[in-house]
Amino acid sequence: MRNEAQFHENRLSIESRTNGKFTDTSSSDEKLEKAVHLRTAALLEMNAALQKKITEHKIIESTLRQSEARLQQIVNGTADGILILNREGIVLFSNAAASILFGYPMEDLLGLDMRLPCKMTDTIEIQMLCKTERGMATRNIEMKLSRTLWEGAFAYLATLRDITERKRSEEELTYSAFHDALTGLPNRAALMTQLEGAIAKTQFDPSYLFAVLFLDLDGFKTTNDRLGHIAGDRLLTEIARRLELCLRPSDQIARLGGDEFVICLNNIHSIQDATQIAERIEIALSAPIPWENQKIFTTASIGIAISNDDYHIPEELLRDADLAMYAAKKRGQGCYEVFNTDIAACIVPKFRLEFELKQALECQEFVLHYQPIIDLRSQKITGFEALLRWRHPSRGLVTPDDFIPLAEETGLIIPIGAWVLSEACAQLKTWHQEIDAEIPLSMSVNVSSLQLKNPGFLFMVEQTLSTTQIQASCLTLEITESVMMEESASMGNLLAQLRAQGIQLSLDDFGTGYSSLITLKQFPISAIKLDRSFTQSLDNDPKSLEIVQAVMHLAQKMNMAVIAEGIETLSQQSHLQTLDCVLGQGFLFSAAIDGQAAGRLIQANGRLPQWVI
Ligand code: C2E
Ligand code: MG
Ligand code: MG
Repeated sequence: MRNEAQFHENRLSIESRTNGKFTDTSSSDEKLEKAVHLRTAALLEMNAALQKKITEHKIIESTLRQSEARLQQIVNGTADGILILNREGIVLFSNAAASILFGYPMEDLLGLDMRLPCKMTDTIEIQMLCKTERGMATRNIEMKLSRTLWEGAFAYLATLRDITERKRSEEELTYSAFHDALTGLPNRAALMTQLEGAIAKTQFDPSYLFAVLFLDLDGFKTTNDRLGHIAGDRLLTEIARRLELCLRPSDQIARLGGDEFVICLNNIHSIQDATQIAERIEIALSAPIPWENQKIFTTASIGIAISNDDYHIPEELLRDADLAMYAAKKRGQGCYEVFNTDIAACIVPKFRLEFELKQALECQEFVLHYQPIIDLRSQKITGFEALLRWRHPSRGLVTPDDFIPLAEETGLIIPIGAWVLSEACAQLKTWHQEIDAEIPLSMSVNVSSLQLKNPGFLFMVEQTLSTTQIQASCLTLEITESVMMEESASMGNLLAQLRAQGIQLSLDDFGTGYSSLITLKQFPISAIKLDRSFTQSLDNDPKSLEIVQAVMHLAQKMNMAVIAEGIETLSQQSHLQTLDCVLGQGFLFSAAIDGQAAGRLIQANGRLPQWVI
């Protein structure tokens, strides 16, 4: 502005001079004056442009400064560590977070060699010894690298993140995925990987031999129930420790869950190597485990499967070791067994049946059929015997002889038996409601020895009677004589309690065991069921007639009723009638029939039409 004013001033002075006493000056002066005038104008213009550029530059400079300050603020404020590294991995710049991460002042980091790996990727994981409040500690750091320019030269921009915690929890997760939380032993998943490795070795080297030991504690459930879960856990951890001590460093052990452990004996020379270890394990487990003021004694059943070419997957080895364990358990407690084809032939069908039985209970495949018990004098139905049937999805109706023994062996008879009792009582209740008989019908239910030994049996019977609302005197429990021979003392007690409630007790299949009526006198039995072998020999064996006569005589003396089983012919019936046998059942009257058919029989006023047979 000032320059412009000057310019006008000059210009006025020239003009005034032009209008004054020099008006007559020559044209060369005018030219000069014009040139000066133009030059000055140009200079002023240039000057203005320059001023403008300077101002712009200053603005840019200030913006740059502000942006750099902002950048610096961001770089230092970010939680991630940032480093600029040269091509060799030497630190050229560090932000505050990187300094906190490493535990050193920023300036100390400059010049530090980050030892970049030769093979560079975008993200690398490094371990750094860092200074922490509690001393030096190794940190896992994830470093993301991107290329950049730093002061005109190639450089790396490295973003650092502390992944120590993440790594630790990842490791913990991996650990728990492959380990059993209680014992700290590898779990099934880890075992499978180990076995896969061992199987792979046999494929490379056919002479390579290894063994799988499947170990199941005997009676662990009882200990757990009796002493509680804490004692059970203590037992399992102690067993795990003892098992580890029995093994060589090359062997592997895993807990499959519950009381099942599996050991993989690598690189053995013979079956004897495996059986020796099984023996060593039995000895190690035999020492009692102290618990509170008691001692827990334990044994294990061990099944051994030895590797061979036929095993391709771990499951096959485990299956056979498990089958061998099952066979060992059958031999008694604390036994071991090496798998062989005989075991498979004998146990596999049993396994299948056991599995199917469990399913049957869940899928409600059991049904009851009822065989009438007849008063031989009036030929009327006095009651029924409930007989269990299994509606097998593919085999059709299966009779109890085919599955009761296994149900007893496996303990499944307890829930099955409870179902039978409640179903039979419910059916009887329905019949009682439908028919108003002078003497109410009775229901006989077969009970196996395992059920009677079960501490909850008495309670279960009481519960069933109270839920179904049938009189105790209408229920008869059929017990085989072998039961009484087995455990007379405690059994006597239980039977007395049942009798005290009014429940009838009858002795099933009498004559097939070794008991005499005299020994049975101590038990509160209300009736004996004469085995059908006697009934059926009445026709042709005079000796049977004598025996039955003696039995009838004694039973009468002891105030016990006699029910003849398996009456198939009229002549058998008349023999029994002459012997004063009042009650009987058999195909002559009716086979066991379903509930509906039995209901129709009752409706027919208890008279049996001959076509039922
Ligand atoms: P059991 O208690 O002695 O039952 C009588 C068996 O003899 C029944 O066989 C019945 O069908 C059969 N039977 C009846 N009359 C005749 C006849 O005139 N001739 C011939 N040959 N047989 C006749 P089932 O139903 O096959 O039962 C076999 C055994 O299974 C029963 O013998 C009993 O010991 C057991 N059982 C049946 N149901 C149950 C149950 O619910 N629980 C338990 N623990 N055992 C049961
Ligand atoms: Mg019976
Ligand atoms: Mg019988």
